[in-house]
Amino acid sequence: MEATRAAEASTFTPSFFDCHRHSPGEGGLYVLEEPWKQRPEKQFFTVGFHPWQLEEADFYARKARFRELVTAPNCLAVSECGLDRLRGPKEALQVEALSWQLQVAQEQGIPAVLHVVRGQDLLQAVWKSVGVPPFCVWHGCTLPPRRVEALLAYPFLGFSFGEALLRQPYLEESLRLIPEDRIFFETDASALPISRIYEKAAMVLDRAPIELNALTIANWNLRTSRPIL
Ligand SMILES: [Zn+2]
Repeated sequence: MEATRAAEASTFTPSFFDCHRHSPGEGGLYVLEEPWKQRPEKQFFTVGFHPWQLEEADFYARKARFRELVTAPNCLAVSECGLDRLRGPKEALQVEALSWQLQVAQEQGIPAVLHVVRGQDLLQAVWKSVGVPPFCVWHGCTLPPRRVEALLAYPFLGFSFGEALLRQPYLEESLRLIPEDRIFFETDASALPISRIYEKAAMVLDRAPIELNALTIANWNLRTSRPIL
């Protein structure tokens, strides 16, 4: 009995909290692949209209399905959503889709994980139009220190670092600038184990990886109505 319970729990409790991953493996918040045919029954997942896959007719047709998924108790975030000036449909549709998704995230009391490529000005306008935005995580953070500093003015924004942290020395400084209650880590589409990212961040922040893991889980749980175990 005990063993069964532990085994069940292990599918929910990641060794290291991965706030954004595209492969459905064990642990972390996995992004349900579009067109969201099946809802994972037990596993935590996230759902969002990625700007790369956004199309006008499709967006309106799939809103109801999105709502259905996002209200599931094991759907932990609207992810990923965002703005991309280099790829994706026209700006107006991207803005409309993001605004709507942020409103739904706010209603559901769950965070939104953002993909932002050359769209910071638009994002700020969307936040303003939404009024009270949900907690947002800037995923795949490759922001230089001066841009991180400017974005810290938004108290509802966290930052998630992935594989780039191992390759780009300037990101170490960006990471050090962020108050620790707004830090997250992710693998995104990388095959690198999430533990490698925690190990690197632990070196940068002079902390133990396990302490950082407890920190990111606490950070997440603080910002959601659907805490992870
Ligand atoms: Zn992603």
